[in-house]
Amino acid sequence: MINFPDPSAFARGHFIETLRSFPEEADIDVLRPSDGVTLGHTSAGSAQTIDLAVQSAQRALRASGWSTCAPRERARVLRRWADLIDADPDLPMLEAIGSTRPISEVISSDVPFTAEAIRFFAELADKSGGEVACTQATTLGMTVREPLGVVGAITPWNFPLSMASWKCGPALAAGNAIVLKPSELTPFSTLRLAQLAVDAGVPPGIFSVVNGFGTEAGAALVSHPGIAKITFTGSTRTGKAILNLAAASIKPVTLELGGKSPQLVFARVPDIKRVIEMVSRGFTANGGQACVSGTRLICHRHLADELVEGVVRAVSQLEVGLTWDAGTRFSPIISAAQLRQIDAKVQASREAGAEILCGGSSFDGDIGSHFYRPTVVRRVDAGMPVVREEVFGPVLTVQTFEDEEEGLALADHPSYGLAAGVHTSDFGQALRAMRRIEAGTVWINRYGRSRDLIIPTGGFKGSGVGKDLGRQAFEAARREKSVLMDFEGRSADES
Ligand code: NAD
Repeated sequence: MINFPDPSAFARGHFIETLRSFPEEADIDVLRPSDGVTLGHTSAGSAQTIDLAVQSAQRALRASGWSTCAPRERARVLRRWADLIDADPDLPMLEAIGSTRPISEVISSDVPFTAEAIRFFAELADKSGGEVACTQATTLGMTVREPLGVVGAITPWNFPLSMASWKCGPALAAGNAIVLKPSELTPFSTLRLAQLAVDAGVPPGIFSVVNGFGTEAGAALVSHPGIAKITFTGSTRTGKAILNLAAASIKPVTLELGGKSPQLVFARVPDIKRVIEMVSRGFTANGGQACVSGTRLICHRHLADELVEGVVRAVSQLEVGLTWDAGTRFSPIISAAQLRQIDAKVQASREAGAEILCGGSSFDGDIGSHFYRPTVVRRVDAGMPVVREEVFGPVLTVQTFEDEEEGLALADHPSYGLAAGVHTSDFGQALRAMRRIEAGTVWINRYGRSRDLIIPTGGFKGSGVGKDLGRQAFEAARREKSVLMDFEGRSADES
């Protein structure tokens, strides 16, 4: 059963062992993206709140046995947490009302994907140890993998639950504690996730959520000397600020940042109708507010008219509506400020000579005004904001090419390298494109992640450092210690 959550689910405060709030902290208004109505308030956590959470995590690591117990025991608790996530009656609506995610997709994708990510990492908990090294017979050399300690995580607003699970899953399965700061725009579903973790048996203090602004609570988390690693998902601009802040205390940082991903369509494709679907969905899913949005259509001249006409037709039929209505298929923009930014980039490009084929404004009416029309823009060049910058809205640019080399050159972006789609019937061409394009993920004749969580995700260039998902994310939540034992006095090679 899916519930409309009780107002108490939209609570102020943080989750540090339990739900807590501090009267001295200011409130942050939290609005429903669908219609701009106030949903509740969250707390502006400070450096002191972060310190409280880190100390609680350190105490829990010492006292609870979370990092020292048999890994299968941790896995059992994490699997129980995943089951509670799947079964929770409030979580789907908490996510849908409080974010840009339509309820139909939250139910079919976000909640099950969140639970599966926790299960996936739970399964890795006891699957890889260190190595025994090849040393002389009188010594035993080995490496031991151990938890890092307290991991700090910072998440964006566009997929609050899934992003939290990508951070918590590896950190907790590896035996760490985690302090997570969600986006100030979407705090509530993550708080619920923390409550469910404790209900499942994760020791209090091992998973804390501190709410607040990025420049205060977020920056304090990155700078805290008790935080052993930062794992961040968000914009490239914030990623740069975090790298700078982390330098002071020298800690490893994983950064999943923005993108400007191409959909490269060659002259022969297996099925043009499917390409139209993939291109349309690729830039409009979640209202275009996805890091891997395929926002640059780079198309062979021969297919361009048919493809662009098909895309314009398909995206003009998307169903706009409140995120909690079952029939809604097209998401609102997260905030009025973000909507203005999207429109400013579109209008600046129009003034520079771009042609708007559809969209180019928000929808009309009270509810519609929170949604930006799917927008297709052609006659663009590399200097225009819609091509150069991440728009983070439903905006697609169209560029055409004559030969493979020209297409490949257009596909690479000077500053981003998150994902790319390649559509072609020619296997050799697909392989050449895959090798050539500078992107952390290349999809061939598909566009979008699979639920095979073993495939890691991460960007090149300004799109990030390191990986989420896959074994790689689990390994990055541990550190490796080298051990050498002598059995017969002083070794010949001692230095
Ligand atoms: P954002 O960078 O504005 O904020 C992300 C988080 O960082 C928020 O919790 C925010 O409070 C915090 N933050 C802001 N300034 C900070 C600072 N100085 N120090 C520490 N924390 C700070 O991003 P957003 O607008 O919430 O999310 C959209 C961005 O996220 C887009 O660029 C998108 O591409 C990116 N994203 C990337 C991936 C990926 O896997 N690569 C996935 C989802 C979203």
